[in-house]
Amino acid sequence: MNALIISDNITKNTIGFADRDLRASLLHTCTPFKIFVLDKNDRGNTNKAILCVYLHWEEIGEVDEDYAPIHTYQVCRVMEQNQNNWLYTNWILTEGAQRVYIELKFTLRDCNSLPGGVGTCKETFNMVLKENRYIKVDTIAADESFTELDLGDRVMKLNTEVRDLGPLTHKGFYLAFQDLGACIALVSVRVFYKRCPFLVKSLAEFPDTIPGSEASQLVEVVGHCVNNSLPLYEPPRMHCSTEGEWLVPIGKCVCKPGYEEISGACQVCKVGFYRSLLESPGCSKCPPHSVARQTGATVCTCEDGYYKIESDPSNMACTRPPSAPRNAISNVNETSVFLEWSIPLETGGRKDIRYNILCRQVLPEGRGLDECGPNVRFLPRRVALSNTSVMVADLQSHTNYSFLLEAVNGVSELAKDHPKQYVSLNVTTNQAVSVVRKGHTGKSSIALSWAEPDRPNGIILEYEIKYFEKEQDSSYTIIKSKDTEMVVEGLKPSSVYIFQVRARTSAGYGAFSRRFEFQTSPYLAITLALVLLAVVAGFLLSGRRCGYSKAKQDPEEEKMHFHNVKFPGVRTYIDPLTYEDPNQAVHEFAQEIDVSSISIERIIGAGEFGEVCCGPLRLPGKREIQVAIKTLKVGYTEQQRRDFLWEASIMGQFNHPNIIRLEGVVTKSKPVMIITEYMENGSLDTFLKKNDGQFTVIQLVGMLRGIASGMRYLSDMGYVHRDLAARNILVNGNLVCKVSDFGLSRVLEDDPEAAYTTRGGKIPIRWTAPEAIAYRKFTSASDVWSYGIVMWEVMSYGERPYWEMSNQDVIKAVEESYRLPGPMDCPEALYHLMMDCWQHERTNRPKFDEIVCLLDKLIRNPSSLKKLVNSSHRYEGKSGSAFTLICIAVLLFRTSFQTKQQL
Ligand code: AMP
Repeated sequence: MNALIISDNITKNTIGFADRDLRASLLHTCTPFKIFVLDKNDRGNTNKAILCVYLHWEEIGEVDEDYAPIHTYQVCRVMEQNQNNWLYTNWILTEGAQRVYIELKFTLRDCNSLPGGVGTCKETFNMVLKENRYIKVDTIAADESFTELDLGDRVMKLNTEVRDLGPLTHKGFYLAFQDLGACIALVSVRVFYKRCPFLVKSLAEFPDTIPGSEASQLVEVVGHCVNNSLPLYEPPRMHCSTEGEWLVPIGKCVCKPGYEEISGACQVCKVGFYRSLLESPGCSKCPPHSVARQTGATVCTCEDGYYKIESDPSNMACTRPPSAPRNAISNVNETSVFLEWSIPLETGGRKDIRYNILCRQVLPEGRGLDECGPNVRFLPRRVALSNTSVMVADLQSHTNYSFLLEAVNGVSELAKDHPKQYVSLNVTTNQAVSVVRKGHTGKSSIALSWAEPDRPNGIILEYEIKYFEKEQDSSYTIIKSKDTEMVVEGLKPSSVYIFQVRARTSAGYGAFSRRFEFQTSPYLAITLALVLLAVVAGFLLSGRRCGYSKAKQDPEEEKMHFHNVKFPGVRTYIDPLTYEDPNQAVHEFAQEIDVSSISIERIIGAGEFGEVCCGPLRLPGKREIQVAIKTLKVGYTEQQRRDFLWEASIMGQFNHPNIIRLEGVVTKSKPVMIITEYMENGSLDTFLKKNDGQFTVIQLVGMLRGIASGMRYLSDMGYVHRDLAARNILVNGNLVCKVSDFGLSRVLEDDPEAAYTTRGGKIPIRWTAPEAIAYRKFTSASDVWSYGIVMWEVMSYGERPYWEMSNQDVIKAVEESYRLPGPMDCPEALYHLMMDCWQHERTNRPKFDEIVCLLDKLIRNPSSLKKLVNSSHRYEGKSGSAFTLICIAVLLFRTSFQTKQQL
């Protein structure tokens, strides 16, 4: 308890008659009155009370149980009536306390133990307070009263009672004890108040504080920071409770910079140490390349040649500028230069390294260097580059440049004495090919020649010839030549083409030449000759009339067609449109079946024109077979009938184990039907989904091989499928896959919107090659692209290509060279094949011959399928295909073999 005895400082001489009114009212004199030390035994404190005696109280010296002397005030007039005996203190100064405590120690006689007349005996007395008037504080009763017996046994039954007074409003007060007829010995009166003592906490001093008058009141006290300390964030505060306890500390002091707290005081930092922040716990050793030569350092200073910038943290070492960049290389592309370098060996100890480029043009005839003009562009910028590369564009062609690459960091600006460290790079931009000349011109080819640039920038490795059909520059073709001449083939007759040529040296590409326009010859004469040849050859060799016109064929298909003419014996596909009467075309290629030969057993699917059913077909003289029956729903238009049967006219031309076989058509009765072989396992995509993970790789490759073989047949026939997808492949009970659905191509051909819509549906964007999407360039090469997607579908057991990506996103991604990743557990060899099918440049894609050849090779050598792709891999298209060469020999063999066979 932090008690202070207030009556302590009252001396004998200051005491006088305390209160005239009191004396007057009681009509008693305070005589004699003395100062008495009532109790000296309260450890550590001298407790005194100064009492005046009025009427019958007596000051008596006694001894306690242990024979120690004590002084008491006693009164014991129990035998007399109307007692009113007063004992009172002199004026007690409160010293500012608003609440004081009175502790009384006394003994009291048990009235019952008094011999004889106890009628007037009391066992209580009153305690009275006077500030400006008298207030009875309490009636004090004894917990224990003593008897005659106790006196005999020398047992002192001492009572202790404590009362608190407050709030006091005056500077001082009197206390008085009123006896009304009890037998009391007052042993001690202690008057005290509580206070919160001086305290040092968190480097803050809090003075002696007197609590408030109300119980539970807290007095807020602001502390003072000790020497060399400062308040952290806010001045420290504590709260003094009425019980004299410090509570609720808020805020604190910390040593000021250059000092640290040791044993509750702030001590100065030693030499070589510093403390810069109020928050840091203690003095720290100076960081590398810095020193503190005096005590009390708040910062360390950098050694010579080392620097610091304001934003560097104080514990960071002093740093210096970096050395020059290293391993600078350049790569010239036309009039652009790509500069690349490695980070400097010496970074100076900093991470904020940046690079600046100084570009100077070398003037001819040793006239020195000139700063590059404002026209030269730097990507992303010229100075403060954070990456170790830059593209410098719009340089002059065939000009020497000198580039200085400088590395800087945050302290480079400060290091004025530090010599700049550069790496220099001399670059010469390539010269463009100036003139391209036209040589011999054919209906589908143009011979070009050009002169080597005058001053090539190094040895010319090759030339690139870029060309496209005039006004069709959304897509172009690039071919390469080692010589200064080249015959560009595969062009359309009577068409104007734009050509540009550029050279590549070891330094990179030169600029393309300006555009040169050349036109191919009209094809009339040669075409007629070739058509004649084809018709005659076809007629003679296959014994079959090939009465078709190619007028409506895609030029690419035409090309393929004439290509086929070189190998007489390979049948070609005839567009049913060639026939004026579509019915004639149907019956040219499809057998009419009598409806009585067919019984429909059940529905197996929904086709575009009606239900697809299955049932047995019994043709006279042939064994019964199971067939699929596509029906044309009732209420069709003539156009719908034509479109429906049109598929049969195409299918009927094919005869291959991997192409769905047409048994015939029913056109003479209703409903109109197309009868094909029945494929027990339905369409490939659903079949794979149903049997997810059920097949061996060899089985899957077998299926792919079948599809490729069917497609090879179609492409050899000059037929472009345009909708090759797993959903359009049918699977029979022996897992043989057959290409079906020949319904799409004509619509795409004729409809100007066909790039995006077809018969109310959309072009199969996910399966379609970019050039077919972009400008309807449907060729066998675009079928190869689709085949790659089918491979992906097969290897991922019917997963949707590009998953939930939108068509637009697919187009964009493919254009940006992104390709589907390898399916899970897909052999690397197959994924490579897919990637080759997805070459942007269609001439770089494999041909179906080559695909079949490669798949055969893989099947014969299953260990080649062991290595699987990492499925997280995203590949970008690349040119060239490894397996092309392998297959050439086989191809040649196959072609001649087929030719012989046909013959
Ligand atoms: P299509 O009109 O060709 O797309 O056929 C619709 C659906 O009928 C297909 O997805 C197959 O499930 C089924 N289907 C068509 N042709 C045959 C067939 N020859 N054998 C078995 N199912 C077929």
